[in-house]
Formats: sequence, C-alpha cells, structure tokens
Amino acid sequence: MGVFVILHCMASSFEFLLDPYQQQLDALNQASRLRRCRITENGTEAVASFDGHPIVNFSSNNYLGLAQDTRLKDVAKTAVEEYGTGAGASRLISGTSSMITELEETVARFKRAESALVFNSGYQANVAILQAVLNTGDYVFSDRLNHASLIDGCLLSGAKWSRYRHLDLEHLEKKLQQAPRDAKKWVVTDSLFSMDGDYGNLKALLELTERYGALLLIDEAHATGLYGEVRSSGLCEVFGISDRVALQMGTFSKALGGFGAYVAGPDVLMKTLVNKARGFVYSTALPPAVIAAARHAIELVQSDPSMKIRLWKNVRKLHHALQTAGIPFESRTQIVPVVVGEAKQAVDLSERLLEEGYYVQAIRPPTVPEGTARLRIAVSALHTEDQMNGLVTALKKHFA
Ligand SMILES: *Cc1c(COP(=O)(O)O)cnc(C)c1O
Repeated sequence: MGVFVILHCMASSFEFLLDPYQQQLDALNQASRLRRCRITENGTEAVASFDGHPIVNFSSNNYLGLAQDTRLKDVAKTAVEEYGTGAGASRLISGTSSMITELEETVARFKRAESALVFNSGYQANVAILQAVLNTGDYVFSDRLNHASLIDGCLLSGAKWSRYRHLDLEHLEKKLQQAPRDAKKWVVTDSLFSMDGDYGNLKALLELTERYGALLLIDEAHATGLYGEVRSSGLCEVFGISDRVALQMGTFSKALGGFGAYVAGPDVLMKTLVNKARGFVYSTALPPAVIAAARHAIELVQSDPSMKIRLWKNVRKLHHALQTAGIPFESRTQIVPVVVGEAKQAVDLSERLLEEGYYVQAIRPPTVPEGTARLRIAVSALHTEDQMNGLVTALKKHFA
C-alpha cells in the first residue's frame, strides 16, 4: 500500500511535463507514422504467429533459415555449457576470449582482409567506426539512402558530411572534387540497400574513391552470406574488390541467423578502432553462444550451398510470379520493394495482407523518402511455392 502511494505521487508530480510527448505521438498517429512493437512468435520461421494470429512471414531477414538451423543451435548450446551465458566484461578488460579472436580470424579470411574486429551490433559498429576514423575537419560522403546507423555515424563524427544522390557516381565525383585535395576523406555506402533491395557498381565506386584519395566503408549487412560464387561473403566478393576496400562491415544478424557485427580491413585500422571506437571500448563483449554460432555460420555458408540454392530459386520464382501478376516492383535480389506511395496506403495494404494471412512490413518515412512508402517483401529459403503464390494472389487482389 505504502509503495503504491509513493509511486502514484511520483507519477503525478511530473505528469504534466509529459504532454509534449503525448502530442508528438498523436501527430505521428495522425500521419500514419506511429510505430509499435507487435508480438511475433517464431519470427524467424516461414510461418509465425503475429499478434496472436498465424501468418506467413515475409518480413524476416533470416534469408537462409540459419536462425533455426540445428547445427548452429548445437554449437551455441555447447558454448553455453562450456563458458556460460555472458562475457562478463568489455573486450579490453577481460572480455576477449580465444573464441572471439578465432571468429575475427575467420572473418578476416572470409572477407579477404588483413584483420577483423567483432562488434556487438551493426548499428553500434557503424556509429563507433565512423566516430573513430573521422574528426572535425575531415570529409565524409554518403549515399542518400544509406542505413540509419551510417547516417548517425556521419552525424556524430563531427566531420563535414555531404550526401550524394542514390548510386549516382557523377554526383559523388562533383562532391569529391570540391573537397580539399589533402583533406582526409571517407565514402560510406550500403552494398545491398536494405529498403530498396538494389546495389550499384561497387568496383566503379572503389575506383572513383581511389582517384580522389578517399577511403571507402562498405556495409554488407544484407549481402553477407548470400553473394559471391566462392565464399558467399558479400558483394565486394562479387565485384572482386574485397582486398582493396578500406573497411568492409556486416552483421551476423541477417543471413547468418545470429547476432552481432564485424568489420574487416587493414591491421592499422583495426588497431585504431580498438583504441578509438567508443562502442567497442565501452560495451560488454558478446556472449559465448553468439560468438560460436557466428563462426559456425560463416563456415556453413561456405561449405553447404543448399540453403543458398533454395533461396535463389525462391527469389526467381517470386519475381516471376509478381511479374506475371502485373505488380510493379524493381529488384534483382531477395529484398523486393513494392512502392505504394503515401504512408497510409502502405499501412492499409499491409493490414489487408495480414487479414489474408501474410505479413509484409510497411516501410514509411522517415525510413524511406516521402512519397515512397512501400511494402518490403523479404524472401527466404524457407518459403514454399504455395506461400509465395498465395502472397502474390493476395497482393493482386488488394493492390490499387
Ligand atoms: C540491419 C542493418 C544494420 C544494423 O545491424 P544490427 O546488427 O541489426 O544492429 C546496419 N546496416 C545495415 C545496412 C543494415 O541493414
């Protein structure tokens, strides 16, 4: 009783100060932009439960189905049994186990880089990396549609930051020309763009940065494990530039089915990050189970092509079905955006599909530019032909 009274008094003493927050939420709601978390059980499987209803899930980044792979579950379980549930300290204190350094060696080989470093998440990695390699007075150029973590890193770095039009190398070149010749310059980009499912010519981009003495950071979050004939290490492998890019980063959280992130590049940059990247220095290391699963996942995508074969078969089938149904989309990848227009239309279409048993996330501003709200279909190796055809039929019925 006493406790209840105290809590009640505390709440009422600042309640009126919360009004601006409520008004902000009301405005978001008015603009069909209010977000909330909805309960998804088994969200990594093709059939999941969403807000209590069974749905076919086209909104997971578990592209290869590895998040449920028995082989990965087994190595994670073994790691828990041997080493427990947590790392106990940050990397520079007592959080660096040999399992982590082995993972870093595995990543370096995978990405054809001199050295690699593990970060706790992709978001954290991008913010920390950019803050560490850039200072006030430096220049950073980023693709207009880059992931929010790259944008935040550019902002927080204090460098002079400029955005070029999506995949527009001529626009980037103009900007590079304007920066002083001897200034430190970085160009940062997604490889496979997370909301558009497209990618540019990374070799041409690299050569442009080389001509202007700029360093390049490429984010392979949605490409790691999927692209590349030999190692499936990402689009840098496809364009044959892995050993020429200053920093390649990516995550273990999407196709690799786990959690955490990596960055790979020259040893001097890795040592710079160990000393300067605050997100690396001031955060507890990833737990043993996560590290073990990440390492094994990198080995699996190189040794067992079966999931990748299934995924690409599904991607081709879905593209074909959408084409046949006359639904406009632009994609040659596993991320298939169907642009609808206004936020409200995208949300409404997503709701109609949910009623039919398909979950396709509506993506709204500010995640994507104004007027380009869309449904973002994510295909995986786990989807069946019936599930994909069912989605296309439902889309056709409700697509205005
Ligand atoms: C998902 C994503 C991230 C963030 O990775 P997390 O591990 O989920 O924090 C960073 N960059 C891109 C391009 C992404 O798609």
